[in-house]
Amino acid sequence: MKHLFFDWDGTLWDFHTNAGLALHEVFSRHNLLTKFESFEQFKEKFHHYNSTLWKLYSKAQISKQEVGVKRFALAFADVNLYDDDFSQLFSQQYLEAMTLQTKLLPHAKEMVEYLCKKYNLHIITNGFSEVQFPKIEKSGLRHCFSEIITSEEAGALKPNAKIFELALAKTGANLSNSIIIGDDLDADIKGAIDFGMKNVFVNLTNLKHNYTTDYEISNLLQLKQLF
Ligand SMILES: [Mg+2]
Repeated sequence: MKHLFFDWDGTLWDFHTNAGLALHEVFSRHNLLTKFESFEQFKEKFHHYNSTLWKLYSKAQISKQEVGVKRFALAFADVNLYDDDFSQLFSQQYLEAMTLQTKLLPHAKEMVEYLCKKYNLHIITNGFSEVQFPKIEKSGLRHCFSEIITSEEAGALKPNAKIFELALAKTGANLSNSIIIGDDLDADIKGAIDFGMKNVFVNLTNLKHNYTTDYEISNLLQLKQLF
């Protein structure tokens, strides 16, 4: 094994905590407790619309801009707040707030620093480029990764083969010396299996599933036993 392709959100970067902090910060900035019963209520609505819209975006049925704004516009509409300009502003501020978050998952830093001495590390991510790049920079781990492959650059999201093809092309890697390490069964693991790439499922919540993974870990420290 020579090339390790890491997913970023939810695999190394603590997406759940960071997104919650960013969302709460912008929610408070606009005093939205006057509209919603609680931050939790808003967050639940946001996550619901966000995952629905991301599914459409991943099938290229809506644009990136639409996902960005509509996930808020729909949550706001639920409390009778109809204001396109405000949704636009909120979306922009949320993305900015996301780029400022820095919480990594337990042992992520230690493992990446350990592995980058022995392997070529890369990132393969479905996020928006202008958000993913600052997040990776701010983590203090950018120097450990040779290439960052984003879905925007590939013109397709994981699990689409196009992004994996671009990953191999950009890094000079091939199927026999590469492995993908990710937390998303559909995007990372199904993507890798369909493409014929080895995979490590980072299953931090011990999710039950029916996929045949090559390796499965419930803690990033276990990477030390694999590599
Ligand atoms: Mg992920």
